[in-house]
Amino acid sequence: MARVVKKFGGTSVADLDRIRAIATKVKAAVDAGDQVVVVVSAMSGVTNKLVGYVQDASPLYDLREYDAVVAAGEQVTAGLTAIVLQEMGVDARSWLGWQLPVHTTDAHGLARIEDIDTELLEERLNQGQVAVIAGFQGIGPDNRITTLGRGGSDTTAVAFAAALKADRCDIYTDVDGVYTTDPRIVSQARKLDYITYEEMLEMASLGAKVLQTRSVELAMRYRVPLQVLSSFSDEPGTMVVDEEDIVEQAEISGIAYSSDEAKITIEHVPDRPGVSAAIFGPLADANINVDMIVQNVGPEGDSTDVTFTVPRIDMDRSVKVIKGLEDELGYRAVKFDDHVVKVSVIGVGMRSHAGIASKMFATLADKGINIQVISTSEIKVSVLIADEYTELAVRALHTAYKLDAA
Ligand code: ADP
Ligand code: ASP
Ligand code: MG
Repeated sequence: MARVVKKFGGTSVADLDRIRAIATKVKAAVDAGDQVVVVVSAMSGVTNKLVGYVQDASPLYDLREYDAVVAAGEQVTAGLTAIVLQEMGVDARSWLGWQLPVHTTDAHGLARIEDIDTELLEERLNQGQVAVIAGFQGIGPDNRITTLGRGGSDTTAVAFAAALKADRCDIYTDVDGVYTTDPRIVSQARKLDYITYEEMLEMASLGAKVLQTRSVELAMRYRVPLQVLSSFSDEPGTMVVDEEDIVEQAEISGIAYSSDEAKITIEHVPDRPGVSAAIFGPLADANINVDMIVQNVGPEGDSTDVTFTVPRIDMDRSVKVIKGLEDELGYRAVKFDDHVVKVSVIGVGMRSHAGIASKMFATLADKGINIQVISTSEIKVSVLIADEYTELAVRALHTAYKLDAA
């Protein structure tokens, strides 16, 4: 007997036929003697629609009410999944975040799970009942519904797997695993049998939305055995594992891209000690997350150009902060651009292979793609380029690192 958490994403519960199909998978596991916890997303498209209603209702909406609205999609699928399972003769019961409860921080719209009460679930699981949990939601210290950020049902699933010490957490989606890059833009992308937690964490945070970043952080911290697989087939998926469990390490495991970036350049800032602190301090105070940074000494040697990236949604706010510093900094101009994309190559193999970054730069140069900003860490290299080259760059790099499917 195993205890498993099975999470089904939007396309896997898109309509009643799909819900029946996933219920059949759940029933098979129950019939095999497993204890099963099911976590469901909203039907595909529903959360977007609900977010759209909120935005149309008011541009400056109250985030507590945003959560009350957008959490609704998962309530519907949890109830329907329980009904369909019951119809198949499986003992099942739905649970909403507040009922269990799933305690979160008060950051409405982007809350973090702090603590999960599992007593009730343990009792029901031991009685052989399937728990169908609405993903993406919890309850905050203000006693109101919270949501965990887009894609947050993955995090609900991993958090329950950790709290219930499950033997495995299966994330069912519309692709049959984690690929070397987004299979929707590179048809040559290859499915990986294994990927390390660290690589998956970088892939997710650098733009591969197949798993919410926070879910990978939790899986890594609590060593939750995680599998990404398709709800449309019975094939094994990709296992997210410890580095020691991978025998042969390729130099690069994957390529990710993110269009959620914007670039800001402050031109001709007088070069003196404290300039960076004077720029990035106020941005941090405004809760703006600066990602990549470059600083160039200008031609006269007494001034510098500072370029950095921020989340695209924070571009206007960032420019406002910088404009407010004009007198203090004495710069010449501030420019901004949101037609940029961050492309990253990721792999723990980078630790032992030299020349990964130079291969990336040469490949892009060969295609005539200009690199605007570069940043690196131990297992990734990221570049910022014009967004019109996204597909060209990802495809060229995919080939250059020999990732193309045979
Ligand atoms: P779900 O609704 O099941 O949570 P998502 O849309 O959130 O599904 O995530 C699955 C999608 O992630 C895939 O359809 C795919 O386009 C995208 N994706 C991006 N990068 C990757 C990758 N490296 N491997 C697999 N899928 C990826
Ligand atoms: N339904 C939510 C979303 O679309 C959560 C999820 O699907 O994981 O973001
Ligand atoms: Mg998702």
